[in-house]
Amino acid sequence: MSDAYEAVIGLEIHVQLRTKTKMFCGCELSFGDDPNVHTCPVCLAHPGSLPVVNEQAIQYGIQIGLALGCEIAPRSIFHRKNYFYPDNPKAYQISQYDIPLATNGRLGDIRIHRVHLEEDAAKLVHVSESGRIHGSGSGASLVDFNRGGTPLVEIVTEPDVRSGAEAREWLQLLRSTIKAIGASDVNMEEGSLRCDANVSIRPVGSDELGTKAELKNMNSFRFIERGIDAELERQRAIVAAGDKVTQETLHFDPRSGSITSLRSKEEAHDYRYFPEPDLVPLAPTDEMLADARSALPELPGEREARYLTELSLPDAHARQLARDSELGELFEAVLDAGSASPVAVANWVTGEAQAREVEPAALASLVGMVEDGKVTTQAAKQVLVTLAADGGDAAEIVEREGLGAMADTGELEAIVDRALEAHPDEAAKVKDGAMQAIGPIIGFVMRETKGAADGKEVTRIVREKLGL
Ligand SMILES: [Zn+2]
Repeated sequence: MSDAYEAVIGLEIHVQLRTKTKMFCGCELSFGDDPNVHTCPVCLAHPGSLPVVNEQAIQYGIQIGLALGCEIAPRSIFHRKNYFYPDNPKAYQISQYDIPLATNGRLGDIRIHRVHLEEDAAKLVHVSESGRIHGSGSGASLVDFNRGGTPLVEIVTEPDVRSGAEAREWLQLLRSTIKAIGASDVNMEEGSLRCDANVSIRPVGSDELGTKAELKNMNSFRFIERGIDAELERQRAIVAAGDKVTQETLHFDPRSGSITSLRSKEEAHDYRYFPEPDLVPLAPTDEMLADARSALPELPGEREARYLTELSLPDAHARQLARDSELGELFEAVLDAGSASPVAVANWVTGEAQAREVEPAALASLVGMVEDGKVTTQAAKQVLVTLAADGGDAAEIVEREGLGAMADTGELEAIVDRALEAHPDEAAKVKDGAMQAIGPIIGFVMRETKGAADGKEVTRIVREKLGL
């Protein structure tokens, strides 16, 4: 049954921009300050106050549009989106409606429908009767206007996503792209990156869109994946039972894994958009577009392509290093600091060295020593532990702890002789062609040399001594 249906998922992402001040006034942006210390007549909607557009927010918006391969509208306009709620003193949000800043883009496999600019609402804090502050419940509601008026970019995808896992992976690419631009902290826990998903299913082969349900405000990549998969399962069960999916807004509870309805279509808002009369249309000049374009860094998608074609990294490493900005920076720094090969550096940075804090230059020198055969991989792992704990110079640690690879073949041959004497049965089996019996012989040599012998070299000597 479930195989006869495919998932159709569109994503809506809100990104708080990392400007110094709010979207339409001079109030500073803050996270974690005392409530209501960053307010003014504009963001508190005092009569007679007028909005002024934040130029940096426009530039970030254009850069995000360009990075997502969109066409930037020669002239877009701001609208008032009317709704009455305590998080919104004007009773409308300034947003964009029928002519957004950017349209028709693509990031990876997912097409971008639109990108537009707007302002964030204030933050509501609900207090229970006992005075305990928590996310919801009865008692009192407090408003913190510090967040009200924070510049937001909303990104809406086409319904191209086909699973929870694909949504998670694509959002990680989007996050690293926006992070590379420097336009946002893109921190889901702090709410600077928020995601809603429109989820529906349709018979495989159909071009029509099924009735969609909207999953709101999932605040981690993992929860997005689980929430979408749980909703797909719910919709498939409804269809399997012969019923129809209804349009509604849903909440996914990551603790219980359950989905609950927030509101149905009948309660859906009618925002009565109309053009914001206090703001002129947004018409970026050629110069603004050129500036925005030239300020774009190498983006994760481009970086991945370069790693594949110019550095010949394996797919998985190219992808991981391009999309994880911290690992990617370490990789670039290690490459710059030494002459180790990119493939070897990628191996170490995504493997043993990941989650260890090591100076790029020290790691570069260590990987170089492994490549030159001066230290074995096994011994290098020990050196890495010391480097992460105490810092220092890789070559010095190798010298001090006697971890250098055994260059003296004569000495190694003597140890192999002792290993063969200690394991006569295994030696006989190896001689008869059962190479898997070599393990204890190599183990003996590694113990004797404290890991300083090169495994391949030991195998070569063993074969030579056994006349193979
Ligand atoms: Zn203000």
